[in-house]
Amino acid sequence: MNSFIPPERLRAADFPFSWSLWREQCWEQCPRSCFFHYYAARGGHDPDAPERQRKLHLLKQLLFAEEYLLRLLTSELLRGDPETWQNRTLRRFAREWSAMLTGRYLVDHRQPVIFELYYKRGTPLQLFLRLEEALKTALPRLSATPELRLWGARPRIQQIREPDPVAITLAGVTLFAPPLFGWRAAGQARLRQLVRHRPDATGAAKLLLLHKYYALQQLRLPPERVSSTLLTLTGETIQLDPRELNLSLAIEQIQESIQQMQSCVAPDGTIGELDFPDRPEHCPKCAFRSACSSAARLNRRLST
Ligand code: SF4
Repeated sequence: MNSFIPPERLRAADFPFSWSLWREQCWEQCPRSCFFHYYAARGGHDPDAPERQRKLHLLKQLLFAEEYLLRLLTSELLRGDPETWQNRTLRRFAREWSAMLTGRYLVDHRQPVIFELYYKRGTPLQLFLRLEEALKTALPRLSATPELRLWGARPRIQQIREPDPVAITLAGVTLFAPPLFGWRAAGQARLRQLVRHRPDATGAAKLLLLHKYYALQQLRLPPERVSSTLLTLTGETIQLDPRELNLSLAIEQIQESIQQMQSCVAPDGTIGELDFPDRPEHCPKCAFRSACSSAARLNRRLST
């Protein structure tokens, strides 16, 4: 389609849609933040992109401290030898922290940066001590769990390692399953996932559904041959009970969520910032608050 669209609007078809729990969470917190994250920021990794797009892309990279820890722990666990996991993770944290302090993320958007540091929630020293303490507590606790010991002891050929989100399809839509690990043997798969905290019943059902579809599409294993366990950063082990999975309800909930997210596309197939409802109550905890006109209006109202 070559028809003219005003510069402040984007063509939705230029942004292939995919669903993930992360995107759903973003939508629930504030639909407008989804617009910034999934549409307006795209392409902003390029140093030659327009200034606003660059800024939105930088803000899109911000991670809350706990989310940063989860990604760091998962990435190091699944990319290397479980035996050296603890030391490698601490070394990488030290490297990334020092890069954050020198502001390397400003020019290289692949470098992680923490929301609390960027928006000055406490001093850098306080934040560093908090993260270091959390890591030094989580690493030995997780390493001592039977889940990790059993996985690490498996021959590499039996191990499952998915350090990046995995694409699966459901009714023609791409869904992204979170990073996973585990092992397969004797026609069975045991899937494991690190999570920040225990999910509620709806979240657990969606995770279970993603695990089952992953096993079906990537491992060619039927759902009854797959077991799923979550490990929280405190070392708590949560067995996802397949008897609690109402598959058709979980699919319906995901499809509803997809429809809602796509409801902001105008009849002419375009999207713009104001088409996405704002949720000012969430602004204080939003990465985009330094670029969003709603947050600026809220600040002006509060200061008068
Ligand atoms: S700053 Fe507020 S209104 Fe703007 S995207 Fe974030 S939460 Fe939504």
